[in-house]
Amino acid sequence: MSDGQHSYYEFWKETVSRIKQTLPEQEYNTWFNRLTYLRSEKGKVILGGASQFILDTVVSRYRELLVNTLSELTGEELTVQFEVASRDELEQGPEIDQEEREVSSRKSEAKRAISAQKNAKNRAESNLNPSYDFSSFVIGDNSAFAYNASLAIAKNPGSSYNPCLIYGGVGLGKTHLLSSIGNYILDNTPELKVMYVTAEMFTNEFIESIGSQRTQHFKNKFRKVDVLLIDDIHFLQGKDSTQEELFHTFNNLYDAKKQMVFTCDRPISELKNITDRLSSRFERGLNVDLQPPNYETRMAILKKKLFQKNASMSEEILNYIATNVVTNVRDLESSLTKLVAYSELLDQEVSFEKAKELLGVLPAHAANASQTLSIDTIIKVVGQYFNISSFEIKGKKKNKSIVQPRQIAMYLARDITDFSTTEIGTEFGGRDHTTVMHSYDRVESMMKADEAFTNTVLKLKRDLTTIKS
Ligand code: ADP
Ligand code: MG
Repeated sequence: MSDGQHSYYEFWKETVSRIKQTLPEQEYNTWFNRLTYLRSEKGKVILGGASQFILDTVVSRYRELLVNTLSELTGEELTVQFEVASRDELEQGPEIDQEEREVSSRKSEAKRAISAQKNAKNRAESNLNPSYDFSSFVIGDNSAFAYNASLAIAKNPGSSYNPCLIYGGVGLGKTHLLSSIGNYILDNTPELKVMYVTAEMFTNEFIESIGSQRTQHFKNKFRKVDVLLIDDIHFLQGKDSTQEELFHTFNNLYDAKKQMVFTCDRPISELKNITDRLSSRFERGLNVDLQPPNYETRMAILKKKLFQKNASMSEEILNYIATNVVTNVRDLESSLTKLVAYSELLDQEVSFEKAKELLGVLPAHAANASQTLSIDTIIKVVGQYFNISSFEIKGKKKNKSIVQPRQIAMYLARDITDFSTTEIGTEFGGRDHTTVMHSYDRVESMMKADEAFTNTVLKLKRDLTTIKS
């Protein structure tokens, strides 16, 4: 670490939180609850276990995983040493480390004070929400690629994936990942200047700078950063002069090998009214997508959020939420928040019946789902069921494994929403309304002929009409 102290405690916390996500709960509790971080030396982490037996098992089963994860996170080749710890040590956790920390902090106090000031300034100016970090992000099949790319960027800004674009629907974690990149960089290389803005903020500031004749100031502000994070670039559609300005900012930063990460609610190819030269810049680097989480990941997310809120909820209720709230993580989170708030306010546990009543919006919304359900949600849910991306459903591929889900999604869009076939066609990657009508007829006739097919369509329809959208 930069200031000469060798505390790997933060990395240890992140390591166990990751391992927790990959192991069955029972297994995790058995071994990892009896293991603690004791202290560290340069290049080495010393862990304590409650008994030799526990240590032997941990060493034989998890040593490699621990070493690899710690090394990956710190970017150093670490070794891990194991000791039998006293009960005090186990209970106190890394108290010893605290002492170690104090000694080294006294040594470098002066040096720190100076850099702390600068770091605090960098943090304040970054605009980042400090509560988003990698350790609170639950990784699933839907997000592993985006997560890994983000972490790699955070560890080595400007060098590997530049620029990077993270795209995906609302509430799927774009802002969370983007902010995690910035927070990680500020934590580990606080001397770097990180700037987070939404595309809307960027636009507004640009317009203001024109009004107050301070465009040079605006240009300098964005061109002197080391890391530029712009959220929700779809907002720039149709904003020609802001696009022009961003284009120049981009070129400046790109030539100087400064890291840029953008997020967007759809693939770049689906943006409208964006100049070709800007969209080709966005597409230049790595493009990663975020999909809605599957059931297992939804459960894992709920459990993590509960843990963070220091609350508990029966498995039955969690299962109910994870089964019914399939749209995105934000909706999952708000369902849970509602129940936890209720339970805290009344200081009583929520029963399954009460939970269903409180979340009544789920089935109760079915009646008016047709007004609010978006075509995008239908595409997502159908895609998730068939394990293909929204991108593929909207795309041009003609394999049967994609054509059939595409037709089913069109059928459902026509069947349960009030959108016109023209509107539906547009949402399906700009197809003609006759294609939508043809798909509808095709699915209808297949339903007459094939019972299993009918059941699939009906199941999807049921799922969709119980979604709160
Ligand atoms: P987006 O920017 O894509 O609309 P956000 O990043 O704002 O979505 O995410 C919505 C909420 O869901 C946030 O509170 C965020 O912390 C949470 N969230 C999203 N994805 C995950 C995840 N994989 N693990 C944990 N929390 C998540
Ligand atoms: Mg967002």
